[in-house]
Amino acid sequence: MERSYVIKPELGKNYPVISHGKGIYLYDKEGKRYIDGSSGAVTASIGHAVDEVVEAMYAQGKEVSFAYRSHFSSDAVEQLGAKLAEWAPGSLNWTFFVSSGSEATETAQKIAIQYWQEKGKSTKNRIISRWMSYHGITMGALSMSGHVLRRKRFVPLLEDYPAITGPYPYRKPEGMSLEEYGLQCANELETAILRVGPDQVAAFIAEPVIGATAGAVVPPDGYFQRIREICDKYDVLFIADEVMTGVGRTGKAFGVDHWGVVPDMITLGKGMSAGYTPMAATIVSEEIIETITKGTGLIMAGHTYSANPQSAAVSLAVLNYVEKHHLIQKSAEQGAYLLQRLQELAEELPLIGDARGLGMLCGLEFVKNKQTKEPFELSKNVSGKVIAKAFEKGLLVYPAVGGIEGVAGDCVILAPPLTITKEEIDELISILKAAIESVQQELQ
Ligand code: PLP
Repeated sequence: MERSYVIKPELGKNYPVISHGKGIYLYDKEGKRYIDGSSGAVTASIGHAVDEVVEAMYAQGKEVSFAYRSHFSSDAVEQLGAKLAEWAPGSLNWTFFVSSGSEATETAQKIAIQYWQEKGKSTKNRIISRWMSYHGITMGALSMSGHVLRRKRFVPLLEDYPAITGPYPYRKPEGMSLEEYGLQCANELETAILRVGPDQVAAFIAEPVIGATAGAVVPPDGYFQRIREICDKYDVLFIADEVMTGVGRTGKAFGVDHWGVVPDMITLGKGMSAGYTPMAATIVSEEIIETITKGTGLIMAGHTYSANPQSAAVSLAVLNYVEKHHLIQKSAEQGAYLLQRLQELAEELPLIGDARGLGMLCGLEFVKNKQTKEPFELSKNVSGKVIAKAFEKGLLVYPAVGGIEGVAGDCVILAPPLTITKEEIDELISILKAAIESVQQELQ
């Protein structure tokens, strides 16, 4: 091809052209094979080209692909809603369908604000979030995000929402137990609510395991339980952003299930349709929907493609596949093996400061000095170099760089499809090791 007319992530760079995929592998048109070690953007969680999903896609397409949600409901969307109600904890029984994670978190933001308006508390319209968080690229979602690199051009246009520290066990203060540290971080929420005023705060949003900004950071036990208590005490809704962690990624249906905590809303995306179609969701509690139903009865959110039958049928087929093949349990079991292998690598290679994760969502943090945990300057782009080297060697790895210069090092995420076998994990690890060793040599 002479020239491209497509705007790509890096302008001026030539990207290989995808040919096809099967299971954990992708193949480009030159015939090169890649292990999808990150399920793309932590998305293709059941692997590529699964027949059941493709068949469901075709079957729905033969009936009808699009029927506007203000005109019709559909069997596919009703069945998917029922399935999510079955999966979700507590009274999280109602789902608002959208097409991307950013739309899902922004819908949650809007529903939270509307809920308090319907209760006659319209000053409760601010959302507290955490530094080291990513909730999406649209302006509302970005206002709630702490991803410095993605925010910095637009700061004057973003809502000036309060943010607190997310727990980051690898860099916790010396001499403090994990439990104490978790509670200290959670208590920052209470301080922030009191500073802003409980009558101003609609909701708190957090990722159960921090993804895009820090590479699979798992909070200490007790953290989310304390967050729930504080939210209840001050009438603040708790939104769990499970766009990355939901649908079995961490070894439970939802990340919050690890701590038995029931949020007021859960957002989903990515693994919900495993990359077979754009699909995302905001799952909402009975109490919120009851309040809005008794009030105006109309949720002020939604997009043209919301709740379209085609995407719903595909997502339903993905959830059925996850259930049928026990992929949540597999995510827990094989994820533990992946983490063990990554921790072995961390013992061996001086570049890796920390290997961490939950289920099949794992991360590596690269440091200049293992003893002091001193991070590399971001300009060194160490994680970027590892990702490029791994790509060259046929392994896909996802970046996780929050851009907090001097605070956190570069990280990468390893999050292969939940279907990956032990042998395939071994293959992934050997390519990753070679890639890191090669960057290590380059840095010397
Ligand atoms: N929330 C979380 C936790 C995410 O990881 C992401 C994407 O990485 C988003 C929201 C935004 O999702 P999308 O890119 O589909 O808009």
